[in-house]
This record gives sequence, C-alpha cells and structure tokens, in this order.
Amino acid sequence: MGKKLIIGNWKMNLTIHEASLYIHKLDKLIVSYSNVEIVVAPSFLALPALSMQVDHSKFKLAAQDFYWRDEGAFTGEVSAHQLRGLVKYALVGHSERRHIFGESGRVIRHKVQAALRNDLIPVLCVGETATERADGETIGALQDQIIEGLANVTSDEAAKVVIAYEPAWAIGAGKTPSPRQINQAINGIRNQVAHLFGDKTARDIRVLYGASVTKDNAASFLDISGVDGLLVGGDSLNAHAFSEIVNKAQEL
Ligand code: PEP
Repeated sequence: MGKKLIIGNWKMNLTIHEASLYIHKLDKLIVSYSNVEIVVAPSFLALPALSMQVDHSKFKLAAQDFYWRDEGAFTGEVSAHQLRGLVKYALVGHSERRHIFGESGRVIRHKVQAALRNDLIPVLCVGETATERADGETIGALQDQIIEGLANVTSDEAAKVVIAYEPAWAIGAGKTPSPRQINQAINGIRNQVAHLFGDKTARDIRVLYGASVTKDNAASFLDISGVDGLLVGGDSLNAHAFSEIVNKAQEL
C-alpha cells in the first residue's frame, strides 16, 4: 500500500507571513513523515516563499487552480507552465471553482491536460450536489465528471491523476456522507476509471475523500476501503488540527 496523501487546501486564507509561520509550526508538530505524503495548497502569492522555505522531502506544494493556456494575453491568470517546478500538484475543478466561478466540464478537461503537459499532478475534484444526491443521481454525476475531466487522457497519464471525491453539499458544511456512501461513491469512481482506462489504472489511481474532514473524524474516513488520503479545507488552516490529521494517517 502506498503512502496516504493528505492535502490541505487553504483557499483564500493566510498572508505570506502567516503561511510561513504555519509551516514552521506544522513541522514541529508532525511526529513522522514516513507513511504520509503531506501537501499544502496556499495562495499563489505564498508559493514562491514556501517553496524556498520547505524541506521538499517533508512537504509538497499544490496550486489551488490555474489557467489552462500556457501563456498569452489572459490578464490576471497564472498558468500550469508558470507553476512548473514550483508545485507538484494542482487542484482542478474544485467545487468552489465549479459552483461559484461557473467552471465548465470543458475548462476542467483543458486544465487536466495542461497540468499533465507541464508535469504537475492534477487533483481532479468531483462531487455531487445535494439535489443530485436526493434524486439518486450521485454515481451518474460522478461518472459524468470523470468522463469529462479525463477525456483525451492516456491510461498512463490517467494513472498519475489523483481524484478527490468531495460531495459539494458537505464541503464546509460540517456534514459528511456515511462511510457506506463514501465507499459506494469511490467504487463508482473506480468503476468509471476501469471502464475508460482498464482495471490496472482503476486500481493504481489514487482517490481521496474530502469535505468537512476534521481532526476528530479523519481516521474514520481513512479506514474506508478505497480511500487513499484526504483533502482537507477548514481544519487545514489550523496547524495543530492539520498535524493531528497527518499524525493519524501516519499511525494507520
Ligand atoms: C475543500 O474545500 O476541499 C474542503 C474539503 O473543505 P472543508 O474541509 O472545509 O469542507
């Protein structure tokens, strides 16, 4: 079994100075790094400073988003090409990008390809809305997002992608699906990957759970079959809470 992957998504929080202090504190609180790959996704602003500060054998960096063209007249945007060498991972299609910023399946597909072409590992976020769950359409919605996001990707490339299952209705809401529902969703995701890329890719691809993960419930998600790690939002902003999540993953 590979290392558990624990990603902290800081969203639009922490100044450059706060980000630097956070990493300093986190490093003191983590007991061991051997079984866990720890990733933090700060704002673009903090990335250069953190890249200089962190011991890259302990912490990896991720971008929260990027634009899919490599360069050009796209005011205000940052490309995967510009992030190359600065981050190892990049979130793609986070629920807030889909629902607040109206990011379409087409844009998400372009972003997955841009990440891969620039040697970044895309963390493709998928998840059903409350309405889709209530209508019994959870698995279909997840499978549609996988088909859209991984179109035109080879099976070798697909095996590198990380998929984060993040039910949109549970993000930041203090609500979580049951372990059974998470297991069903993750099986649905792997079945779709198997259909597109074969059984080996479906086994190899890493699938994370995210949405309202806290230091108190993290271990229960890591115990679910098929969960290779966690994507943590709110509780990743507190170095103590995040270190507890990492330390629990380390113990498993
Ligand atoms: C997220 O936004 O990716 C997330 C998981 O948020 P939270 O943990 O706050 O629900």
